[in-house]
Amino acid sequence: MMKEGLLLVISGPSGTGKGTVCKELLKSEKDIKLSVSATTREPRNGEVNGINYYFLDKDTFERQISEDEFLEYAKVYDNYYGTPKKYVIDEINEGNDVLLEIDIQGALQVKEKYPKGIFIFILPPSMNELKKRIVGRGTESEESISKRFGSALDEINYVKEYDYFVINDTVEKAVEKIRGIIRSEKCKVNENIEDLISKFKEEISC
Ligand code: ADP
Ligand code: 5GP
Repeated sequence: MMKEGLLLVISGPSGTGKGTVCKELLKSEKDIKLSVSATTREPRNGEVNGINYYFLDKDTFERQISEDEFLEYAKVYDNYYGTPKKYVIDEINEGNDVLLEIDIQGALQVKEKYPKGIFIFILPPSMNELKKRIVGRGTESEESISKRFGSALDEINYVKEYDYFVINDTVEKAVEKIRGIIRSEKCKVNENIEDLISKFKEEISC
C-alpha cells in the first residue's frame, strides 16, 4: 500500500491570519496541495474562481451536498463553505500532503471522518490585535466585523479539540512553528512505518 499523505487542517477564528499564514507556508512548502473550497459568498475584489474558491450559487451547492460531494461543509456567516471530497482523498491516496484552511465547525467534521488529520488552531496574540486585524483587512461591513469578532471568543474554546495551537504573532514565526509541526508529524511512528521496515528487509534479501 502506498504511504498516505498528511491531511493538515488549519482553522481558528476569522481574522487571526489563517489565510495569510497558509499562503506564506505554501510559498516555501511547494509540495503541499491546497484544497480549494467551494462557497456561496460573493467573490471579493481580486478573488478568482477556482483559485481562491469555487464560487457556486446556493442551488448548486445544495445539490452537491445531496450528492455527498463534500468532505465537510458548514454555514459560516450566512454562506455555505465546503471542502470538495474527491480532490482531498485522491491527493492523500497519491501520497501528497493536503492543506485545508477551514472554519472550526468544518474542522470538527473532518476530525470525525478522518481522525488521522493534523488539526492546528491559529490564535491571535491578543483579542485587541484580533479586532485590529479584522478591521484592518477592510473587507467586512460594520455588521460583519462585529459578528466575526463576537464569535471569536466562543470559538477560541474549541482549541481544546485540536492537536496543536499556533499563536500568529508574526507571520514568519507562525509559519516556522507549522513547519516544525509538519516535520514532527513526518517522524511519528504510525502504520506507515511498516513500509520502511519492509524496505529494509528487502534490502537484506537482495
Ligand atoms: P483569516 O484568514 O484568519 O480570516 P487573514 O489572513 O485574512 O485572516 O488576516 C486578517 C488580517 O490580518 C489581514 O489584513 C492580514 O494582512 C493581517 N495579518 C495576518 N497575520 C498577521 C500578523 N502576523 N501580523 C499582523 N497582521 C497580520
Ligand atoms: P472568508 O469569507 O473570510 O473567505 O472565510 C470565512 C470563513 O470560512 C473562514 O473562517 C474560513 O476559514 C472558512 N472556510 C473557508 N473555506 C471553508 C470550507 O471549505 N469549509 C469550512 N467549513 N469553512 C471554510
